[in-house]
Amino acid sequence: MPAWHLTEAIVPASFPTSAPFPMSLESHANRFICDLVAYEPGKPIEETARELGLKPEQIVKVASNENPLGPSPLAVKAIEKAAKDAHIYPDGGGYMLRQAIADKYALSMDHVVLGNGSNEIIELLCHTFLNRDAELIAAEHAFVVYKLMATLFGAKYIEVADPDFIHDLEGMADAITDNTRLVFIANPNNPTGTMVDQQSIDRFMERLPDHVVAVFDEAYHEFPDNPPDVLKYVREGRNVCVLRTFSKIHGLAALRIGYGLAPAHLAGLLQKARQPFNTNALAQAGALAALADEQHIQQTRRVNQQGLGYLCEALTQRGIEWVPSFANFLLIKCGHGDDVFKNMLKQGVIVRAMSGYKLPDWIRVSIGTPEENKRVLEVFDAVLADR
Ligand SMILES: *Cc1c(COP(=O)(O)O)cnc(C)c1O
Repeated sequence: MPAWHLTEAIVPASFPTSAPFPMSLESHANRFICDLVAYEPGKPIEETARELGLKPEQIVKVASNENPLGPSPLAVKAIEKAAKDAHIYPDGGGYMLRQAIADKYALSMDHVVLGNGSNEIIELLCHTFLNRDAELIAAEHAFVVYKLMATLFGAKYIEVADPDFIHDLEGMADAITDNTRLVFIANPNNPTGTMVDQQSIDRFMERLPDHVVAVFDEAYHEFPDNPPDVLKYVREGRNVCVLRTFSKIHGLAALRIGYGLAPAHLAGLLQKARQPFNTNALAQAGALAALADEQHIQQTRRVNQQGLGYLCEALTQRGIEWVPSFANFLLIKCGHGDDVFKNMLKQGVIVRAMSGYKLPDWIRVSIGTPEENKRVLEVFDAVLADR
């Protein structure tokens, strides 16, 4: 088998007819929308509580890699303060926050693009670079949003095999053609938790041609001890965009705010692709405070490392396979992931089934507080003992 293979270009053979609206309207819809399978998020706590007749406090959600300690308390205070001015449009340019982010990484403001979650930056990159002739490269078990976006824009999605769930950057560089516009490297990757090292990245960057943008999605960058440095490539002016988010370590997933770091020539293009007020004022205020809350960041890292160690050890004792993780979640091979998800859900624990990632035997579990991890393990044991 070659080191990489082409997925069939995702072009609908015909318009589907199952949708509940008249054919005449559907026939006018963007043809790439018709066959798009919508992103399925982790099941919400409120919905689960309603369905089970439980109180939301009785549910443990370890399905979306959120921060189990909650938001930075400094961020909460800043959001409360900002709420008084909710009648005023936000600073569309996000001056204060972009300045603070730039300072933190010794970059300048024109390297920073804010997004409504870092997911929006993914979309801005696609708006800027994709069309029907373009190709996007990602790893076989990469974050699924890249594939959804490529489909939406009618581009060709090229999936490169990732033995042992680790991105094969050599294979990804081999897959680059004249039509390649974007290569996505999620590091650490979701849902696998694996990380590529500095040496592999440096070799990849030596091979990256000028017509391709390398996107390093670093949503979990703050969790590992020694993550590789790709910001040096931003400073050198290479065609690199680094994605970061406030949704994970900072505990602000509900606010929808993230950012891209890129050389000014690239960041400027992304700025043109965004809505005028894409990030809201409460999110900007909360993010600004969270960025400086080093105590909350370090405490989150400690709780995560401890919880990850606890779960890995428990699974090893049980002879259950898991993938070594550099992030705040764990990919676990328990067999029949959909059933394990459903049966754990019945007991109020929300994990994530992985069949959407073509991993039907696996589930993904986010690391919680010590009490949550204990409950997750108890329910997991009960579900496995029951089959
Ligand atoms: C969670 C996550 C994001 C962040 O999404 P937001 O839109 O910032 O909430 C981005 N990339 C990956 C790989 C993720 O897991």
